[in-house]
Order: sequence, then structure tokens, then C-alpha cells
Amino acid sequence: MRIDILCLFPDMFVSPFSHSIVKRAEGKGLVEVVTHNIRDFAHDRHATVDDYPYGGGAGMVLKPEPVFEAVEHVQALTGNTGGPIILLSPRGRLFTQAVATELQSWSHLILICGHYEGVDERVSEHLATDELSIGDYVLTGGELAAMVVADAVVRLVPGVLGSDESSTEESHSGGLLEYPQYTRPEAYRGWVVPPVLLSGHHGEIAAWRRRQSLLKTAARRPELLNGVALSDKERAWISGRS
Ligand code: SAM
Repeated sequence: MRIDILCLFPDMFVSPFSHSIVKRAEGKGLVEVVTHNIRDFAHDRHATVDDYPYGGGAGMVLKPEPVFEAVEHVQALTGNTGGPIILLSPRGRLFTQAVATELQSWSHLILICGHYEGVDERVSEHLATDELSIGDYVLTGGELAAMVVADAVVRLVPGVLGSDESSTEESHSGGLLEYPQYTRPEAYRGWVVPPVLLSGHHGEIAAWRRRQSLLKTAARRPELLNGVALSDKERAWISGRS
């Protein structure tokens, strides 16, 4: 998979993508993340990429020309004109694990990071094929949002996670929050690991984990349970009847 990120501050990506899973995925040749400075596509010698909003109002707006031309440059470079072109925006559809899974199936993604008060609407209307928000809050720029999207997508690319790591039992992968995890020591400051996890009984451990996962989800994110098929026994666990 190749991910091209268009932004005004490419240096912001250097450290986050030089470590851990993204770095490892690049090392294995499974993923390539390339950043581009939108300013390189400005038309004047001052490299102007923003201008005042028509109609007045606070702040500046990212101009359309450098954004369109940066995307066209990437498309010419990669020969790819059919993949998603994603504008990061607080107005976008909410980025979730399901969206990460959907994006992972593409071989090429283009992410556009806005800045200032936002991006000329023609980018949203005539260039982007999708708009994603990483949550109901406003960031200063799209760079952090692009990092979140790229990280969540890259770890789902087959072969990126090692055989001892798995994305299939994590929070949100099956619509539930993950069960509690423990490691050594068995007792710490008097808090002991649940005995079932030391039993070696795989069936009982799996049942305990499923129950804990349901209870944690019911306590913290009850709305997630609406999308999960539950047995009568599981409903009873959640309602405290068994
Ligand atoms: N004035 C815009 C609005 O009210 O929708 C907010 C602009 S914000 C200060 C600047 C840029 O940060 C946006 O163009 C977008 O690229 C990015 N951004 C801010 N919050 C975001 C979020 N929750 N998810 C994704 N991108 C976000």
C-alpha cells in the first residue's frame, strides 16, 4: 500500500513514522508513506497557499490551486487516478475501525490535510472522494488526523503485525471493547490476576474474555452493543441476571 499525504508541515510526520509499526511496515516493503508540501505547488514567489475568505469572516482559507495541483502531481507520479482522495475535516464522516478496514483494501490512498480556517469548498466538492473526521473536536491542522488514519490503516495491512500480534481481538474489531489483559507478576500490591487466566483451560479463558468484553462495553460504550448479535446467556450476563 502507498499513502501520499499532502500538507503544509511534512516535518511533523518524521518522528511518528520513524518508529514502531509504520517504520516496520515500510522496512518490510509492505507500505510506503510519502509526504508532500502543498506549498511547493503555490503559484507566486512568496509560496502563498491561503487567502481571505469571500464574504468576510475570521481567518484564512487554503486556496484550491495548490491542493488540486498537488493531487494531480501525485496521480501523475503513481499512475493512480482511481483510489480514494481523502480530505481530513471535522465535517467528515467519523473515522472508525470499520472505516480503517475499508481503506486497508485499497493499494493507494491520498490524504489532504487542511489548515487555517479550512479549505476552499471546491476541494471538497470536486477533488476529494471522501471526507474523514477523527472526532468531534477541532484540531489546528489535518496533520495529526492524517497520522491517526495512516497508523490505524497501516496496522491492518496483511503482514504488518507480527504473528504474536493480532488486530482481530482488539477493541472495536468485533464491535466490542477488548477484555482486560494482564502480564506478570501474578500478584502486584495485593491485586491478583483473575485465576481463570492461569488455569490453562482455553475454553474457560475464551468464555471469561467474551464476558469481560461484553461487561466492559456495556459499562463504557453501551451504544456499541446495538450492533452486536448476543445470545440469551450473554444478555443475562449484561443485565446481571447470571
Ligand atoms: N473552520 C473549520 C471548521 O469549523 O470545520 C475547522 C478548520 S481546522 C482549524 C483546520 C484543519 O484541521 C481542517 O481543515 C482539517 O484538515 C483539520 N482538522 C481539524 N479538526 C479535525 C478533525 N476533527 N478531524 C479531521 N481533521 C481535522
